[in-house]
Amino acid sequence: MRILRKLTQTFGVSGRESAINEVITELVKDYAGDITTDGIDNLIVYKKGSGKNRKKVMVSMHKDEIGFMVMSIDSDGYLKVRNVGGINVATTVMNRIQFRNGTVGIVGFSKGLGKLEGGVLDMYVDIGAKSKEDAEKKVQVGDVACYMGDVVKLKNGRVASKAMDNRIGCYIGIKVLMQLEDPYHDMYFVFSSQEELGLKGATVASRIVKPDIGIAVDITGSYDTPESKGGNMKLGGGAAIKVMDRSVICDEDLVTAMVDICKSGNIKYQMDILPSGGTDAGAMNISNHGVRAGGISIPTRNGHGPNGMVDMKDVDACIKLLLAFALKEPEQN
Ligand SMILES: [Zn+2]
Repeated sequence: MRILRKLTQTFGVSGRESAINEVITELVKDYAGDITTDGIDNLIVYKKGSGKNRKKVMVSMHKDEIGFMVMSIDSDGYLKVRNVGGINVATTVMNRIQFRNGTVGIVGFSKGLGKLEGGVLDMYVDIGAKSKEDAEKKVQVGDVACYMGDVVKLKNGRVASKAMDNRIGCYIGIKVLMQLEDPYHDMYFVFSSQEELGLKGATVASRIVKPDIGIAVDITGSYDTPESKGGNMKLGGGAAIKVMDRSVICDEDLVTAMVDICKSGNIKYQMDILPSGGTDAGAMNISNHGVRAGGISIPTRNGHGPNGMVDMKDVDACIKLLLAFALKEPEQN
């Protein structure tokens, strides 16, 4: 749990990702061939392969998290914020958020709690300040905050935390890197930036890497709670092999190859057809001259909120699948 705690609790709201870059670099540096970065703060970790028919495989795990940016501070010391990425009012109001300097705020809702009708701009943040001047001792316009939510262990190997989207994907990439001694393929592990603002980091990284194959490792929905309708992915159902989301329809051969790996390796799997939301797979897919793209997804409850929940057995299945893919000779077709 030490690595997962470090990854989820480190600050990294989209576009303000230097702290999470440092943490990931520290974790992977002994296992990487080469680590580079670029103008949009992607972290590109290269590991050379030795297979005769090896391909360039880009595995993209976004490391940014959703958050809040201060737009103004009123005379009573309350902060007005805007969303950085997809913020849902209902999962946010009455929760704690934290700025990079450690300042904590409680999110209120100016229209009252009755129906929560309205949007992000109806929220306000209370840091306990008594006036604008008092607030400005701690927080300035333009400052950015993330959710608070420490890692908690639940029953049956389930774990909840803030920023599970997508530090759990980063965790999988890092665990694979640590075990990957001699890959078949040339592997580019991209810890991508600004996914939550429109797959921006992966768009740039895919132009740099020019992969033959792109795989996004990211969370997906979990349709096994009382309020959920439709969707088939379940917590504990295994690694979710992406077939489609809003951003991509995955390469059919790639989907088949992943299913075959799971069948032959006895890895529990399920198919991931996400009705809404996109992933870095979409950005890689339409980059350059078109890239065969797929995804390995982690079913997650409460994805965009302070308590994203995953099942560590699914996480282990994702690690096994990605590791096997990196070591495998491609199917001839
Ligand atoms: Zn997300």
